[in-house]
Amino acid sequence: EKNGTMGNDSRILVFVRLRPMAKKEKEAGSRCCVKIVNKRDVYLTEFANENDYLRLKRLRGRHFTFDASFPDSTSQHEVYTTTTAELVEAVLQGRNGSVFCYGATGAGKTYTMLGTVDNLGVMVLAIKDLFTKIRQRSCDGNHVVHLSYLEVYNETVRDLLSPGRPLVLREDKQGIVAAGLTQYRAYSTDEVMALLQRGNQNRTTEPTRVNETSSRSHAILQVMIEYRVKDASMNVINRVGKLSLIDLAGSERALATDQRTLRSLEGANINRSLLALSSCINALVEGKKHIPYRNSKLTQLLKDSLGGACNTVMIANISPSNLSFGETQNTLHWADRAKEI
Ligand code: ADP
Ligand code: MG
Repeated sequence: EKNGTMGNDSRILVFVRLRPMAKKEKEAGSRCCVKIVNKRDVYLTEFANENDYLRLKRLRGRHFTFDASFPDSTSQHEVYTTTTAELVEAVLQGRNGSVFCYGATGAGKTYTMLGTVDNLGVMVLAIKDLFTKIRQRSCDGNHVVHLSYLEVYNETVRDLLSPGRPLVLREDKQGIVAAGLTQYRAYSTDEVMALLQRGNQNRTTEPTRVNETSSRSHAILQVMIEYRVKDASMNVINRVGKLSLIDLAGSERALATDQRTLRSLEGANINRSLLALSSCINALVEGKKHIPYRNSKLTQLLKDSLGGACNTVMIANISPSNLSFGETQNTLHWADRAKEI
C-alpha cells in the first residue's frame, strides 16, 4: 500500500469538510463554488467576472479526491466517526496520533474541533468515545486519562486550562514537555466540554477584535491514556497512548506548498509554527530521514505525535462561497499535497 503511508508504519489520512454557506456570504450575493460528490470528490469552480472576458477564458474547474470529503450537511458525529474513531482505538493500544484542522479563518476549524454545546466537535466526541471504550474494556479502573490544553501564539506557549505566564519547553526522558503544564485528570465526558470551552475563551485575541480568537492562535488538546497490561510472562507493564487534537491558526497567510516557497517565506512575518508544520509534513511525505521538528514550538510539542509509528489525520476546512475561492483553492492544494507520497 503506497498511497497514504509515510514509512515506519505511519499513515496520513486527509479529509475535506465543506461548511454551509453563511448568512453574510448569502447577503453578499455569493455563489457556491464547491461541489462534493460520492463523499470523495471535490469539484471547485471558478466563476468568471461577467465584465471581464479575459478572465472568462481562464475559467475552469478543478477536481480533487481525498480519503473522504464531507458535504455541508455532514453531522459532527459522522465527521468524528470517519476521521478519528480509528485513531482513538489505536491510542488505546498505546500508540500516538494526531488530528489537525487546517484552513482559512472562518472555514470551520473550531466548529469541527470544539463544536457547540448542541453539536459537540471532534475533541469532545473523541473523549466521549474514549471513556465508552475504556468502560467496555475494563472494570477495574485500570486506565487513567489526563488532559492538557495549550496554545501556541506568536511562538509563545500558554496553558489554556490555567492561564498565566508563558510555558518553557524542556527536553526530558519522555521527550519535549511544557514545564508546569496542567495535567487535568478526567473521569467523565460531562465535565470536558465546559472545561474546553473555558479553555478556548483563554485563547489569545487581537487587541482590535477582543471577542474573536486570533487567527494566528493554535490550540492543542492532548489526551494521555495510561494503563497497565500483563505481558506474555505475566509481568505488569505500563503503557501510554497520546492523542493530540489541533485547531490550527488560519492558513490564509501561509500558502506555500513546497520547500522552496516555504523558505522564501520564512523571513516574512508569517506564522512560523504553521510553516514549520508544513515543512515537517513535506519531509514526511517525501520520506526524508531528517524531519525539522525543531523549527517551531508547535512542531516541537508534536514531535512524538507526527511521523514514526503515529497516525496522522488532516481535516481541511473550506467555505462554499466564491468570495473565498482563492483560500479554498490553496487549502485544497495543500491537502492534496499532504496525502501524496
Ligand atoms: P474557524 O475556526 O476556521 O475560523 P469557525 O469554526 O469559527 O471557523 O466557523 C466560522 C463560522 O461558521 C462559525 O459561526 C461556525 O459556527 C460556522 N460553522 C462552521 N462550520 C460549520 C458547520 N459545519 N455547520 C454549521 N456551522 C458551521
Ligand atoms: Mg477558529
